[in-house]
Amino acid sequence: MKTIIEPFRIKSVEPLRQTTREERERFLQQAGYNLFLIPARDILIDLLTDSGTSAMSTEQWAAMMRGDESYAGSESFFRMESVVRDLTGFKHVIPTHQGRAAERILFTVLCRKGHVVPNNTHFDTTRANIEFTGARAVDLPTPEAANTQARLDFKGNMDVAALERLIAAEGAANIPLVMLTVTDNSGGGQPVSMQNIAAVKQTASRHGIPLYLDACRFAENAWFIKLREPGFAEWTPKQIAQKMFSFADGCTFSAKKDAFANIGGLLCTHDDRLAIQETNLLILTEGFPTYGGLAGRDLEAIAVGLEEVLDSDYLRYRIVSTGYLGRHIADHGVPIVEPPGGHAIYIDAGRMLPHIPKQQFPAQALAVELYRHAGIRSVEIGSVMFGANAQHELLRLAIPRRVYTQSHIDYVVEAILEVNERRRQIRGLAIESEPPFLRHFSARFRQI
Ligand SMILES: *Cc1c(COP(=O)(O)O)cnc(C)c1O
Repeated sequence: MKTIIEPFRIKSVEPLRQTTREERERFLQQAGYNLFLIPARDILIDLLTDSGTSAMSTEQWAAMMRGDESYAGSESFFRMESVVRDLTGFKHVIPTHQGRAAERILFTVLCRKGHVVPNNTHFDTTRANIEFTGARAVDLPTPEAANTQARLDFKGNMDVAALERLIAAEGAANIPLVMLTVTDNSGGGQPVSMQNIAAVKQTASRHGIPLYLDACRFAENAWFIKLREPGFAEWTPKQIAQKMFSFADGCTFSAKKDAFANIGGLLCTHDDRLAIQETNLLILTEGFPTYGGLAGRDLEAIAVGLEEVLDSDYLRYRIVSTGYLGRHIADHGVPIVEPPGGHAIYIDAGRMLPHIPKQQFPAQALAVELYRHAGIRSVEIGSVMFGANAQHELLRLAIPRRVYTQSHIDYVVEAILEVNERRRQIRGLAIESEPPFLRHFSARFRQI
């Protein structure tokens, strides 16, 4: 059979609320044309993020009932720890309330002023936590990633030659770690090849620098390796993931992505001395090392989710369904970041709306129009988010895991194609008020 179906059936449903165009126009005005400021009940299809928005399985809900809420030595912790050790091989498994808490602890221990931390592309919280210590966060994506239209298998790769040059220029002593984000979220959800992980590890360890994976979407990355990298077609996703982790000295992880959990994170390492410093900091702000800011039931959900996400039927469906949205809009003339990534489709709004200059935020204008037209929430990743540093004006449509069916996605496709028909009538926006940092969350706009 060619048709790929959702590999689950629905046991519990959550109604969606329809709104009229007039209501949405009013909600937009009240929210200052910022979709973060619209209450979720007024959204029909929410593609703001894939983070913490997954539907949990019956097995996850059942495991939550088993959650051991003991302050110290919870059974749920040991279950989660053994799943993570089996998957990653890491000796120390430190739970945190989400990914950024793992980042904050890791960088507080390793980084100071004058240090430099390279990555394929830093995620925004990763960059912010590195810079908060006084260190510098440097992106070293493969040069082809700059062209949104290039269709490469592993556009998330790091430029290894650029890493060599950076180490030569800065000195290995000033680079406390090298990171690789799998898949590359800020770079379009593009995967990193096993060959690239191995090459980055080899370069880093030649200089005595540890390699950390920002492993939020490790399972989606493993599936792309299976599909696209010679030699891995017969491997299971778990074997590929284990091999990916075998090159790393540690990882940070947000369980809100590829663990199907609604909250949670992990910090892992092989290093005994580091683990002591990290758990000392953990106790200060997150909690005792066997719960780290989470309830026992959250640890159970993570343990079950980490095994479910490596199911081939799930991963096949996940990557095909994201690609389905991407191909159906791109093949009808909507420019996207090619090829479709794992967790999201990114529309190149700069190309789609060339009549709107970047100072008038084309991707934000497109986000507003898509909500006005069809009640769909997406997120701007461009000049609103990054100011003058923005490389592209992108609109991200992130797909929550196991939440929407194909007919929901068909509705999204139809809405985007209708908006595309009338794209020349879309007007830009001007900022009316903005906070001093992370302005995309709360800035207010007016229509030009
Ligand atoms: C989501 C994410 C993080 C941060 O995780 P939170 O759980 O949101 O704090 C870090 N890196 C990447 C690549 C992410 O996608």
